Amino acid sequence: MKYEEKQQLRERIHSEIENTTEQVIELKALTQPIAPDAAIGRISRMEAINNKSVNEHLLSKTEAKLQKLETSLAFIDREDYGLCRVCKKPIPLGRLMMLPESDKCVDCA
Ligand SMILES: [Zn+2]
Repeated sequence: MKYEEKQQLRERIHSEIENTTEQVIELKALTQPIAPDAAIGRISRMEAINNKSVNEHLLSKTEAKLQKLETSLAFIDREDYGLCRVCKKPIPLGRLMMLPESDKCVDCA
């Protein structure tokens, strides 16, 4: 991978980490304990519980993504960075720019 490409990717990962961190903060706020029945009514409480479990699922996915992004950033200067974890072929730059947390090529993903 060329130096400029790596720089470009590094910036991309940094901004993606920023966005993902914000998402995690928002989702954490949305997954707070739900008020008792009396406070919001039974139907909206059920809705709130539904939304909460959707958001909890999203939160764990977003946290996993953040972790992968941080790993990518830590490994970006290593020689094997950008190689598919499975087949060891280089992952195309376009894919890395789109999904900087990916560690597999399209065929192996
Ligand atoms: Zn592969």
